Amino acid sequence: MTASHAAGALVPGRSCGSCTACCRILEIKALDKPAGTLCRHSTGRACGIYPDRPEACAQWHCLWRRIGALPDALRPDRSGVVFGLERRPPDAGTSEGACIVGRALDGEQAFERWEAVEAFAMFVREGSLPVWKAHGRHATLMNPGR
Ligand code: SF4
Ligand code: SF4
Repeated sequence: MTASHAAGALVPGRSCGSCTACCRILEIKALDKPAGTLCRHSTGRACGIYPDRPEACAQWHCLWRRIGALPDALRPDRSGVVFGLERRPPDAGTSEGACIVGRALDGEQAFERWEAVEAFAMFVREGSLPVWKAHGRHATLMNPGR
């Protein structure tokens, strides 16, 4: 997952709290931080360089922060799944293009929780973008989009 999509409206009253999931999953080129490794600036509960964090960090928010219809229980550190809008599919063999990716943080068992099941169903039903389920190096296309 790259820190690539533009800033947009956030759900009022919803905040990251102690979630630092994106500090782990995102690639941050300005810090030479690879995807899937916790950023060296993370305290474990927050960003240690928050006022000076790279633009890519400041602009990126997961879909839980952007879509009010997603339940509170889906906060990534609680649900174990981060939903994000990405510019490239997680499967390198697939053609380029924006897509929605639900990425398991620790184990794919998180996909079985009701909040993740309902979120995938909502994105698949909406259907405008491809929807992917990703875990480590594995990625499954749930819906090809329109
Ligand atoms: S994954 Fe979402 S809720 Fe968690 S820190 Fe990042 S933007 Fe905030
Ligand atoms: S600089 Fe801060 S916000 Fe950006 S990835 Fe590192 S800990 Fe997270």
